[in-house]
Amino acid sequence: MRKNIVAGNWKMNKTLEEGIKLAEAVDKLVSQGTPENTDVIIAPPFIHLAELAKRIDTGKVKLSAQNCAAEAAGAYTGEVSPAMVRSTGAEYVIIGHSERRQYYGETDAILKKKTELALENDLTPIFCCGEVLEERNAKQHFEVVKTQISDALFLLSEEEFGKIIIAYEPVWAIGTGVTATPEQAQEMHAYIRSLVNKRYGKQIAEDITILYGGSCKPSNAGELFSNPDVDGGLIGGASLKADDFYAIIRSF
Ligand code: PEP
Repeated sequence: MRKNIVAGNWKMNKTLEEGIKLAEAVDKLVSQGTPENTDVIIAPPFIHLAELAKRIDTGKVKLSAQNCAAEAAGAYTGEVSPAMVRSTGAEYVIIGHSERRQYYGETDAILKKKTELALENDLTPIFCCGEVLEERNAKQHFEVVKTQISDALFLLSEEEFGKIIIAYEPVWAIGTGVTATPEQAQEMHAYIRSLVNKRYGKQIAEDITILYGGSCKPSNAGELFSNPDVDGGLIGGASLKADDFYAIIRSF
């Protein structure tokens, strides 16, 4: 059965001490209850993961990395491998966030390698896709998302693909305060599901969780999540305040 998920991407925010406070606050709120069939994930910086795994109930608030290396091990100074991420207790990894694509030159070919290595190391990829404003204005958004998904993911086996979470994040909506309308989100999510249906069949398309990301906040989450193909959100700014993040979780 398809899962609803709310995942918080902290990006490059919070010292370890601040991160512990925020994670413990989220943990406390989540222990008061969450909607049925809804998983909660937080993605702090790498250096927080092992410590947070000891301090929060990871059965209720699961941990994700924001990125991982495309190589398994070796002379790659500054990189963190999927095996290292998994060894902290994290179960998920965000792959292909638009900031990684834009500032660090991550291509679909690199993201394909990262996704395969993450799966090999028992991590669930949260694979991000989405168009920039010029592409939407030129009505190329469907084509852009199709290429991102098919180039990075569609060579996976059925079993592997069945583990993927997709996050549709229109780049023009990330951190801008401009949110996609519920209709724009639903239209793209339905399109993504139709691509999955064509490649992997009806059951896998029905079961895959597709998150929306981009200026999602307590005031608009309910309307976005009420769409049939929107299964939750990848939340940036609003995940840095425990009360706002919890309000988003509760808005299913
Ligand atoms: C994100 O970076 O994944 C994101 C959705 O950011 P924000 O919610 O701040 O737009």
